[in-house]
Amino acid sequence: MKLSVIDFPECNNFDRRLHAARVTDFGGLSIDTIQVNIGLRCNLACRHCHVESSPSRREEMTWDTIVHVLDAATKANATTIDITGGAPEMHPHFKRFVDAARERKIHVMLRTNLTIMLEDGYQDLPEFDAQRHIHLVASLPCYLETNVDRQRGKHVYQESVEVLQRLNAVGYGRQDDLPLDLVYNPGGPSLPPNQQELEVIYRRELESHFGIHFTRLYTLTNLPIGRFMHDLVRQGKARSYEQLLQSNFNVATLDKLMCRHQLHVGWDGTIYDCDFNYALGLASEAGHIRDFNPQQFLARSIVTGDHCFGCTAGCGSSCGGSLADEKDAAAIASRSSCPAATQEALHAGM
Ligand code: SF4
Ligand code: SF4
Repeated sequence: MKLSVIDFPECNNFDRRLHAARVTDFGGLSIDTIQVNIGLRCNLACRHCHVESSPSRREEMTWDTIVHVLDAATKANATTIDITGGAPEMHPHFKRFVDAARERKIHVMLRTNLTIMLEDGYQDLPEFDAQRHIHLVASLPCYLETNVDRQRGKHVYQESVEVLQRLNAVGYGRQDDLPLDLVYNPGGPSLPPNQQELEVIYRRELESHFGIHFTRLYTLTNLPIGRFMHDLVRQGKARSYEQLLQSNFNVATLDKLMCRHQLHVGWDGTIYDCDFNYALGLASEAGHIRDFNPQQFLARSIVTGDHCFGCTAGCGSSCGGSLADEKDAAAIASRSSCPAATQEALHAGM
């Protein structure tokens, strides 16, 4: 039986807001994508990292579990496997996983931090990725060097520029069949600017200074969890940020939230509604990926919490960028504090 938010008298603020918006059935709508975190090891240790990855993390998915993920994608007719981490390229079976997915005609999306492609043993990745037509989604949280290095570490901006140029050289961001998307997130406790307008600025800056081409820009809202939340608490900004997210709740985002169209598999095979719930240890009721049943998964109730306001604030946020269409986004921007079309959020360092 599918439960609704009104079945729980002690629900969280997000559930209460859903109830006020007359949303009584907050479950799955489709399974387009299986997002899989294959391990927490990363060559970086960014300040905003919600899974708290670093070079010292050792957790990683076994090959048996990877095969269960592939079987689940086939069962659900999911078109895409979205590989994330850590730096997924550091997993010992990364290339084998990609090839196995492509053999099954499954589209592969890869979340890359770019800089891994400069490390010893990983410099062949631009060619490997291009030959398999992997869709690359790369973090570049600002077009300005100081903001990127403050968030991700010294020299990360220059290294990212170098890798983007290498990716352009093999066709990424230039050919339709080699998409290279960039990801922006604010450096501090503010909502992202308007995605389309920021994309224009990124394109202009990266092309004029470095000759870099990319396909699309995604703007993401920082959820108040993980290292980002630790920073907010330390600086006494946690409550005001949570209030900002809650006061910009946008009902137009609800049907497009990533938890409604995909599942997330943690490195140990546990199924979650999204990577944020994974980071918080909020497993879905679906259990382990080896037991995956698409119909049961779609019929589940999504596990929510106050962090969900990070996905529904203003123009909305998902691993594919903002969620509200231009009309919705314009309406929100005109009547709320969503800093669309301003540069303020770009420089809101913490
Ligand atoms: S590159 Fe990504 S996974 Fe690695 S520490 Fe930074 S945010 Fe986390
Ligand atoms: S954090 Fe976002 S994607 Fe995850 S369950 Fe909440 S609303 Fe859905």
